[in-house]
Amino acid sequence: MQGLKDKNVLITGGTAGIGQATAVRFAGEGAHVAINYRKTPEDAKETEEQVQQCIRQVGEFGVKHALVQGDVSDEQQVQAMFEDAIAKLGHIDILINNAGIQIQKPSEQMTSEEINKVLDVNLKGAFYCGQAAIRHFLDREMPGVIINISSVHQIIPKPGFIGYSMSKGGMQNLTRTLALEYADRGIRVNGIGPGATITPMNKSWADDPEKAKDILQHIPLGRAGIADEMGAAATFLASDDASYITGQTLFVDGGITLYPDFRNAWSSD
Ligand code: NAP
Repeated sequence: MQGLKDKNVLITGGTAGIGQATAVRFAGEGAHVAINYRKTPEDAKETEEQVQQCIRQVGEFGVKHALVQGDVSDEQQVQAMFEDAIAKLGHIDILINNAGIQIQKPSEQMTSEEINKVLDVNLKGAFYCGQAAIRHFLDREMPGVIINISSVHQIIPKPGFIGYSMSKGGMQNLTRTLALEYADRGIRVNGIGPGATITPMNKSWADDPEKAKDILQHIPLGRAGIADEMGAAATFLASDDASYITGQTLFVDGGITLYPDFRNAWSSD
């Protein structure tokens, strides 16, 4: 990808799944990575090891990596995380808003604490991090890129996961509004909408052959995605190859958003 070498990238929720694979992808492109963890640096050990292994494989021995603590749902911790990442890498060029959680419960039983928790991490957390990144880009008078890891549930309802649906629906307008507001300052904001992706988030079905079979039959390409495929999309959208793209969400979903139940037309004669 063009324009990623020696760029500095901050990835939230970098200890597992899509965040981890994205950190490795950027390192492979010669970008320096700040890997966010929420609790202890040990949680980011696996990501750090994979990044180091990738650096050795591609021979990008100048690539730096740093671990930065922060709960994205806490505005003050986000501030401290940015200061730490900037102190360790010098500045930030690219933010990947990846941290996310979900809570499953029928909507009529969902408590306000549970709704707040999901919105605080997935939506407000992405805003706090986006705002901190934008302030930093503007201070430097340099271009910047924000990628929001959203979901196919940005546009497809997810019954039983109302907080998640609300947060990802909101993320679409977070992406579009920030993209429009800052386009004239050289800041691009885009989203990625993963479909079913094999990560710790969906262990419950990925490890259960019966459940997995049921899910996979709804995916036109016939398989779940892997985290590295989301990392590939993130590096593309952050690169100069995507320099004319802003305000978009790229669905990386094996075709889930193609309404696969309409494969054989049933709504007309
Ligand atoms: P995952 O494997 O569960 O990883 C989530 C990451 O977010 C972990 O590193 C986790 O760290 C971190 N995190 C959670 N709360 C945080 C907080 N308050 N502050 C900082 N970090 C926090 O999930 P994933 O599947 O890779 O998902 C990553 C993103 O992709 C999410 O936004 C998710 O909604 C989206 N997505 C995933 C799928 C999928 O099928 N996997 C599909 C569509 C969209 P801790 O464990 O320490 O909390």
